[in-house]
Amino acid sequence: MIYRKLGSSGLKVSEIALGNWITHGAQVNNETAYACVHAALDAGITTFDTADAYSETRAETVLGQALKGMRRESIELCTKVYHPTGTGHNDRGLSRKHIMEACHASLNRLQTDYIDVYYAHRFDSTVSLEETFLAFSDLVRQGKILYVGISEWTADQIAKGAALARELRVPLVASQPQYSMLWRVIESEVIHVCEREGIGQVVWSPLAQGILSGKYAPNKPLPQGSRASTSAGAPFFERLAGQWLRTEVLLAVSKLSSIAHEAGLTLPQLAIAWVLQNPQVSSAIIGASKPEQVQENVKAAGTRLDSEMMKQIDTILDGLVER
Ligand code: NDP
Repeated sequence: MIYRKLGSSGLKVSEIALGNWITHGAQVNNETAYACVHAALDAGITTFDTADAYSETRAETVLGQALKGMRRESIELCTKVYHPTGTGHNDRGLSRKHIMEACHASLNRLQTDYIDVYYAHRFDSTVSLEETFLAFSDLVRQGKILYVGISEWTADQIAKGAALARELRVPLVASQPQYSMLWRVIESEVIHVCEREGIGQVVWSPLAQGILSGKYAPNKPLPQGSRASTSAGAPFFERLAGQWLRTEVLLAVSKLSSIAHEAGLTLPQLAIAWVLQNPQVSSAIIGASKPEQVQENVKAAGTRLDSEMMKQIDTILDGLVER
């Protein structure tokens, strides 16, 4: 495994991280979840990503249990706040009250004294940035969170947040956006603002939720047990990846196999190696429903794709990429 610096901070993260959205506490049973976490640890993954709202808070509990007994200094534990975790009117968003309460609840579920990177899961336009960042600042001073991140904020929101973070001496060092061969939206603005501000990219869905594994074929039934086919995964898959379940995209993805083969990689490994090619990416967060997927995908760590391969990928995906 290779470890990269997270933005301009001194924190090192594994260039492949394991996330547990949809899987832990929902799609897979706890034994499988623990096996995935142990496969990740065995392969040198040290960075784990979750969120309080994943699987109605169960994902944090499962991850906390899976990592129990681990030397805390050897892992980076990252979680998020924003999405509702209850039905109360304060059980959501980025108010001081919710941030403080959510952080304490996450610490309990994760069975830890501190969170390495605590993300604002989305921008909250109903709360002032000052209120949000002062709450983060207090948590940092209390030692309950070490670094702060944001997820899916616009370039303008990030620039404003970074200016305030500097003023309040809040270590805002991570941005968590969607990024894959098929979804390159951050390349136009977000990545540049972040580079200027010393904020690293920790990207999600590098396989476009499994589309880039090549297992979804045109005019064939959905693979059994896949995210698209399970009740826990289907609603998220349809909303965020459904657009790629069309013949022209799936055929293009299958054509990427020859490039993967040439590079000595499988298709999922090629997709992960592609996002890691970007020097602004500190880590690619993979998901897994089986330990074998972790074992396969981690082999993308440390691989380099040459410029000819990068060009061939762009030619095959021409007109199909969201920018
Ligand atoms: P991926 O794009 O890596 O998709 C993972 C899924 O693809 C797996 O669960 C599995 O699904 C399938 N898969 C993985 N490897 C293989 C393989 N080798 N062969 C075949 N199928 C494979 O990432 P996710 O969409 O899971 O996102 C990763 C993480 O990013 C999340 O867990 C979360 O931590 C974070 N995230 C953050 C968001 C944010 O708003 N900040 C939003 C979304 C995710 P299956 O086997 O079920 O088909």
